[in-house]
Formats: sequence, C-alpha cells, structure tokens
Amino acid sequence: MPILREDVADLRERMDELQNQVAELTAHQEVAACRLPNRVDRGRLSTGFPISSEQIPASGNVNVAVLFVDFPDAPEPGAHLKSFGHATTPGFERFEDDLRVAEDYLQAMSYGALDLTFRPHFKWLRMPATVSEIYSDFYSDSRTLKSGRGLNMTRLTLVRDAIELADPDFDFKGIDSVVVIATPKAESIKRGRTQTLPGGISYADDQTIRYGISMGSSANDPPDWAGGFLANYEAGLIAHEVAHTLGLPDLYDVGVETDSEGNQPANEVHRFVGDFDIMGLPAIFWTVTGDVPSQMFAWSRWQLGWLRDTQIACLTSFPASVQLTPLEMPGGIKAAVVPLTETIALVVESRRGALVYMVDTSVPSGEGPIVVGSPSRPPGLSALLDHGDVLSAGGYSVTVKEATSQGDLVVITAP
Ligand SMILES: [Zn+2]
Repeated sequence: MPILREDVADLRERMDELQNQVAELTAHQEVAACRLPNRVDRGRLSTGFPISSEQIPASGNVNVAVLFVDFPDAPEPGAHLKSFGHATTPGFERFEDDLRVAEDYLQAMSYGALDLTFRPHFKWLRMPATVSEIYSDFYSDSRTLKSGRGLNMTRLTLVRDAIELADPDFDFKGIDSVVVIATPKAESIKRGRTQTLPGGISYADDQTIRYGISMGSSANDPPDWAGGFLANYEAGLIAHEVAHTLGLPDLYDVGVETDSEGNQPANEVHRFVGDFDIMGLPAIFWTVTGDVPSQMFAWSRWQLGWLRDTQIACLTSFPASVQLTPLEMPGGIKAAVVPLTETIALVVESRRGALVYMVDTSVPSGEGPIVVGSPSRPPGLSALLDHGDVLSAGGYSVTVKEATSQGDLVVITAP
C-alpha cells in the first residue's frame, strides 16, 4: 500500500533526524573538555570558545560593501571616465578578480556554510583630504608606522569619509560590514585593518555599520619564500580582514619592529604558523596545479562552527588512534585534540601530512595563540609529518602510522 510505504519512509526520516541529533548532543558532551574557554580580555579576538556574539555570524548570508578611494595628492587619472556596476568595469578588473577569489575562498573554508557576498561600488571616491595629511599609515614627519590608537584614528576617518561619500549613490541597507580599498597610488597606505565599534562606525540608509575594514592595494607583495606557489595576495588580505570580523585573531607576530625603510623581516613576522593559515600569512596560496588553495586551521573552523563537534576527536585516554581526513575534503574527523591545561591544547590535523600545533586561549591576538610544530620543525613544509614520523609536543608523542590520499592515521601516546 502506497500510503503505508510513505508512512514508513516518513518515520525512517524522522528516526534519522533524531539519530543525528543524538550524535550531535553526544559529540557536544564528548568534546566539552577540548572546547577551551576564551581567557583573553572580553571582547578581544581569541582562539577560545565561544566567539563573541558581537561578531558577524559565520554562517548564512553576509553582505559586505566594498568602496574604493583616491586622494587629491594620489588621484586616479580619468576616474570620471570609468563606468561602474557592470560585470567588467574598466580599471577595476583586478579588484573584481580579488573579490571573487576571496568570496570563493571563504565559502570553501566554511564547507559552504558562509555565503558571503561582496557588493562593490566601482567608483573612485575622492577623499576630502590628502593622504599625507591624515590618512597615511606613517607619521608625517618620519617613516615610523602609526600603531594602536594612531592607526585606529587614521582608519576610522578613512572608513567614515568613504561611507559618507558613497552614501548618495550606494544603498547600505542589509550591509554587515564595509571594506575600503585605497588606490595603489596612495603608497603610504599599506596595511589591512579591521575595526569594530559596538555603537557603530557609521550610519547610512538606516543601517548601523559596526565593522570597518580598510587596506592599501599596492605595497603588499607576496614574500620571496612563497616560491613554487601562486599567491593571491590582495584577495588573501581581504579574506583575512573579513575573518577578523567573524572573530578570529591574528596568528602572525604583531610585535616585530619595522626598520627605517618601513619593512619587517618575514621570517620573524611569520614564526608562529608560517603560511598554514590565512590569519598568519594573509595570502591565498595555490598549489602549482592550482586546485587546492591554502587552508585554515581545523581549530579555527571549529570555533566558527564550520566544523561540527562530531568532526573533532577530543582525546583524554591514551594511547589513542585517530583517522584524520584531509581538511579540504568535507566530512570525516578533522582534528585530534588533547587538552593539556585549562587553556592549552595539542591539535593534530591532516594537510596531506599530519600537522601538529599548540593552541593557547590565554594568549592575545598577534602574540602566538597558535604555534605550529616544534623548534626542530618550524612552520615550513618540514612541519608536515609523513608516514613513520614522530613528533613530541607538550610531553605527548604523535606518530603517523599511515599516510594516504584519504588522510593520515595518527597515534598519540601520553608521557
Ligand atoms: Zn589581522
């Protein structure tokens, strides 16, 4: 009887749903010991749980306005001749490409959970003041980089002025955050910066804008040591800054001094995690075959809800054996986590080679809340463990028993 068959099918479906819910709830309890609490100041970016509800939700639809600015002393020639709002806008081709790559990248990293759309306003908005006067990253009388409050004020002014100029022709309704990109001609605007003001950075079209990202567009060349890979540096910088608005901290060393030329030694800046995560090196690297972009840590993706509790193996008895599936493949166990203290955990994940790192949720953004490898295996390609390799970290030993295209089988033993 067709009706009965439908009833059975319906019951099966409900049973499957219930089973999934039970699995999720069980997993939620099982990973409780590994869900390390945020122990940096409230409201500051951290590797801990939970991510503040003030951040932009990391799943569903997110709309980001993108505004382009030039300056009286760094003008885009012929800006008035350019049309805007079309699929290909003369003069903006490279930015269109960067935005598309950043959008695709974040969607891939979230396993499809985050549906972020950039809404570019392809027009150079002429800022009311010169770069050197108020918008520069450097103090006007020296090559000293503004930092902290100095850079915050500069960038807040840049974002607010850009929103005010765009407002007459751009509809900010439904916009969650704004990216302001300075012309490549404004050479003294280099850095990427994300600002969050709970009370709102600006107010346009009845929309309170609480997140402002601003960046230069010329000075950040891919570092030399990225040889052999293709990098989308500006797309990476955009994705990095957007990830801050979702709640992720900086994983590079923000404390490295700038020399008299305004440069920083790359090996020092990237000593914590190298290019293993976009919050470390803000560039999207592609393998030579161009099919797999650089990844983000399983830990960060778990924080954002892009990995489910069922995909985390929280280990509290040893020896423990875990089959890890590669990060870029959806499904499967993505991380083995060993809680060491209330704020520190050892994590292993599969990057076509097992990668071992330490997470410390008491370490602030930019000071090394995640550290890859060990002194003998710094965060370069040698940090990846192959079949038979053993790494000791936090007193535990991680051994790779099997390494295939389907992932890595690791065994973790206690001290
Ligand atoms: Zn950053």
